[in-house]
Amino acid sequence: MSKLRFDVVQEAFKKKAVEVEVPTMKTSDYFGELVFVGDKMRRYLDAATYAALQAAQDGDAPLDAETADAVAQGMKTWALEHGVTHVTHWFQPLTDTTAEKHDSFLEYDGRGGMIETFTGSALVQQEPDASSFPSGGIRATFEARGYTAWDPTSPVFIQGDTLCIPSVFVSYTGEALDYKTPLKRAISAVSEAAVPVCRLFNPKVSHVYSYLGWEQEYFLVDEDLYAARPDLMLTGRTLMGHASSKNQQLDDHYFGAIPSRVAAFMRDIEISAYRLGIPLKTRHNEVAPNQFELAPIYGEANLANDQNQLMMNIMTTIGRRHGFVVLFHEKPFAGINGSGKHNNWSLGTDTGVSLLSPGRDAMGNLQFVTFFVNVLKAVQTHNDLLKASIASATNAHRLGANEAPPAIVSAFLGRAMTDVLRKLLEVPSDTPIEIAGKRGKSVGLVEIPEIFIDNTDRNRTSPFAFTGNRFEFRAVGSSANCAGAMTTLNAAVAEQLTLFKADVDREMATGKAMNIAVMDTLKPIIRSILDVICFEGNGYTDEWKCEAQRRGLDVETSVPEMFRAFTTSKAVRLFTSLGVYTEKELEARNEVKWETYTKKVQIEARVTGRMAINHIIPAALDYQTRLLKNITLMKEAYANDYAEMAGVGMGLVKRISELVGQLKVQVDEMINARKAANKIADGYLRAKAYHGIAESLFPLRKSIDELEEIVGDDLWPLPKYRELLFIN
Ligand code: ADP
Ligand code: MG
Repeated sequence: MSKLRFDVVQEAFKKKAVEVEVPTMKTSDYFGELVFVGDKMRRYLDAATYAALQAAQDGDAPLDAETADAVAQGMKTWALEHGVTHVTHWFQPLTDTTAEKHDSFLEYDGRGGMIETFTGSALVQQEPDASSFPSGGIRATFEARGYTAWDPTSPVFIQGDTLCIPSVFVSYTGEALDYKTPLKRAISAVSEAAVPVCRLFNPKVSHVYSYLGWEQEYFLVDEDLYAARPDLMLTGRTLMGHASSKNQQLDDHYFGAIPSRVAAFMRDIEISAYRLGIPLKTRHNEVAPNQFELAPIYGEANLANDQNQLMMNIMTTIGRRHGFVVLFHEKPFAGINGSGKHNNWSLGTDTGVSLLSPGRDAMGNLQFVTFFVNVLKAVQTHNDLLKASIASATNAHRLGANEAPPAIVSAFLGRAMTDVLRKLLEVPSDTPIEIAGKRGKSVGLVEIPEIFIDNTDRNRTSPFAFTGNRFEFRAVGSSANCAGAMTTLNAAVAEQLTLFKADVDREMATGKAMNIAVMDTLKPIIRSILDVICFEGNGYTDEWKCEAQRRGLDVETSVPEMFRAFTTSKAVRLFTSLGVYTEKELEARNEVKWETYTKKVQIEARVTGRMAINHIIPAALDYQTRLLKNITLMKEAYANDYAEMAGVGMGLVKRISELVGQLKVQVDEMINARKAANKIADGYLRAKAYHGIAESLFPLRKSIDELEEIVGDDLWPLPKYRELLFIN
């Protein structure tokens, strides 16, 4: 194995960039060529079908069977021209990946031949075997059947030889078994709640869009080095590994050029993304070695999330073409930065106004402040839920665990907006809010400084930060489906906007002008958020943990415990009143989350134990044998003086014995803890027990990492951090 490691490292180091087939056309000429939208819909559908489909996409009318058949015909014609042979509903079950079940277009034609068919009913609905996906008990209690149903608001696309139909996944009794269904419900809820508030300012508003711009961080590891690490292969992260002598301290990776093998990979995934209509905009190195990021131009949240899921698939597939494995795990390497998926989120009206950007005049600014403040209040009220919606066994290593910042949701406004809010509390409610610099200053005016629009005011440690025209929810994990976080955020904001509107109506009923009623309603909310959710300091400190607790924010660090936020009466009221989740769905989802948590920790614990026994201890003992041989020879050569001569070796022999002994005890204890945990029937209690096991992996790993420091390099069986992180 040790020889193998050396060879693998040498070969990985010598690998050259893979040639990428670059289209001869401009990007804009082939952008979206594999997506059934726009001109393609017009070309392949007749006018009536096209209009009916558009109405369905706008949510105005459901698709009737006849239209569905006509749409399917058009799609089939288009797909066959691209060499497509199969069709699948593409959906997002409660696992880490998307799911597909391919059916070929082939049917008997009834005259002894074959024919390609695709009917409206096959387009609209499929019945995958629901029992193969997590449901949290919903199937067991009700029906084994599950349905996928086309989501016409997300366009159909082609991947390879397959026509993919973005779909929701629900049980026979209508419960959501996926991420997409609740997200769509929350997106409607926030529109329904936001429209009446917008109409205070502009009666023409009839729809509010929820936008998402995700930034995807990831690590790349050479596939041969990856294959030599059982922990990476089975858990997506290194469960052991001593820090490299050099890691990210020089910041040379962040500011450096993109390595050529990686640049080729990036180019390749971009071409695929553009074909699929994913508007990738930025690509760059991240802080940690071998860490990178990409981000598209933001879009409607449901579609943007589908694109993120699709992008993750593309990256994984194309990565292998370039000899890389893409790591989406939030913390693949201890001691260096983890990966997140910042969710840039905002709301905008169908009249083209961004509700989280300052307005053009005093009223526009009041509308901006209204939404700004209500979003923060929603985050405050449901800070525990927002945290629960980003919590997972893997993201725990980035938030709330060893060496990670505490898992507390607070909001960063920046000095400028904090000052604006403070000022609003001091002045009469009818004071106009102006943009500074554009008009002359007058006493008592509240001014939004122009500078903040450049979002220069940044705080990288905040989980929820305002960045000029949007909020950035940074606590979301790199491997997560954005829908979890976006569903909760949109729902929380919907609830708050509804409460707010009712209060404004009450104020207006007393005869107050709208702007005064709005400001009078906002003032107590502003006071409350400045006291509680807003935090401008360093979120990584222990003082913040105490302070947050004093403020009444949720400071829970155990992931299984965090999930309980979903079934408090506060959460149940929120989700059921908006129709986002039923109580049964909430309970079922928690069961799935606890089970997933348990399984992930269980796998990590098993892999750690086996690697300790099968890889680490044998290497340590081999090295010890070598040392003992040396000591024996010393004794032969130097007789009585040998003890002094062999001092270093003897010290090492002793330390190895201690560490190996300690490691064996730690592994045995962990196995016993697992056996005890496995006997627990209740999902929550079992996950809680596994949380204890997850914690015990930290000291266990320390023993292994110290052995790595001592044992001769030629005997160490696993590629080391310096090899995994600095070769690409
Ligand atoms: P940074 O790394 O500086 O935060 P990036 O350019 O990497 O910025 O990513 C910012 C993301 O935010 C992009 O996806 C961008 O399209 C998105 N974004 C910009 N404005 C909005 C907005 N109003 N609503 C939602 N997302 C937005
Ligand atoms: Mg960002």
